[in-house]
Amino acid sequence: MSEAPQGASPVRAARVAILSVGDELVLGQIEDSNASWIARELCALGAEPGERRTVGDDRAALAEAMRALASSHDALVVTGGLGPTLDDLTREALCDIVDGAGVALVEDPKGVAHLESWFAARGRPMPASNLRQAMRPPSARLLDNPNGTAPGLAAPAREGRAQVFCLPGPPNEMKPMFARAVAPVLARGGSVVATAALHTIGLGESSIGELLDDLMSRGREPSVGTTASDGIVSIRIRATGAGEAARAALEETVALCRARVGAIIFGRDGESLASVVGAMLAERRLVLATAESCTGGLLGARITDVAGSSAWYAGGFVTYENARKVADLGVREATLAAHGAVSHETAIEMARGALERTGAALALATTGVAGPSGGNDAKPVGTVYIALARRGAEVVSRRFHFPGDRATVRSRTAHLALACARFALLGEATRPILWAEGEACRVERA
Ligand code: ATP
Repeated sequence: MSEAPQGASPVRAARVAILSVGDELVLGQIEDSNASWIARELCALGAEPGERRTVGDDRAALAEAMRALASSHDALVVTGGLGPTLDDLTREALCDIVDGAGVALVEDPKGVAHLESWFAARGRPMPASNLRQAMRPPSARLLDNPNGTAPGLAAPAREGRAQVFCLPGPPNEMKPMFARAVAPVLARGGSVVATAALHTIGLGESSIGELLDDLMSRGREPSVGTTASDGIVSIRIRATGAGEAARAALEETVALCRARVGAIIFGRDGESLASVVGAMLAERRLVLATAESCTGGLLGARITDVAGSSAWYAGGFVTYENARKVADLGVREATLAAHGAVSHETAIEMARGALERTGAALALATTGVAGPSGGNDAKPVGTVYIALARRGAEVVSRRFHFPGDRATVRSRTAHLALACARFALLGEATRPILWAEGEACRVERA
């Protein structure tokens, strides 16, 4: 099969569009992780991700999207729709835009040889339908696919200046093909886009924006922006330029952001709240336990997402009904009767119970009204109590009110529980936090 960059001159200062193909993506049945991955790779190469589109298995719609994106960008990367079945139409649509509507695909002997050896190596006869995958537009060339049957395709668009690359949908086939056949063509000599994300919890996005102030001005280089997800606001910094200079400029802006925003920054890039709390616990040789009601195990799941968490996580109790809170954690029936399951008193007894029954040094408890029903005037939906008990210290219980639906309330609760542990380990167990109802912070001796 012909190798990729042959005949393809490097695309300078590339602005690159991404087109994801497939009904299952349009219908939301699978996540479009390919497009995000490609966008990140483009940044690392110094190319600029441009427009991103998703189109179903429809030849005319595909050709139209390819034409539009190719005419407004320096390159277009398409993923999906290269399979052997009749609803895989990327080849045909590419032919429409690079050779013209009505031009027939041609069979590529190297593509046929690839398919024959693929099936022979697996001792299986080749279904006739797979031969479709050896077809290409006359002006396109095939891109090797050592990991699957579908070769990729590359061709210059007829209108405009763009090079079009069509890669298979399965990520394990798409990624190596991108690295081998696309990246070398798009890499901008010596220039990179360096990025960093600083993750915060405890303030809202607008407050973070006020702290960052002029750092967020449009046109500033490196650029600074924010995104928010379930209580975590991430500061995203991006520097473009020659490798070392871009990385130095990035670190300078990271330091400025840290100085302005302070201790509510809990981690950078791939760090999670759980991984950061875990590192703090491991360093102090402390072990955590959990007692969960409204989060139903979500907190334990976030914790055990972290590889090696058995070094600092004992385990937890999921005590959803009141009887389990009594039997498993020793919450008193009288407490539940007098204050209800969603209260400081119950949260505190849950945390104490988990501490006593596991021998851990810290225990986090969650109890709340995740909704959509179950709220009342005194404790509306979104009311959550998070208690942290520390051996030999106080138990701190905090009342929160989270906006959002059931999934959001549960997710925020799990995040804020870890944030409470982090602040306590920093010696700021009662630090003001957005959504915490400050006057309702209860501190008792353990
Ligand atoms: P195949 O030869 O496997 O049919 P293809 O190029 O036709 O390859 P699709 O049929 O479009 O690819 O997708 C095959 C599978 O690849 C999908 O079921 C999905 O699991 C995965 N996939 C496709 N597109 C994406 C995407 N944008 N992000 C993540 N996964 C994807």
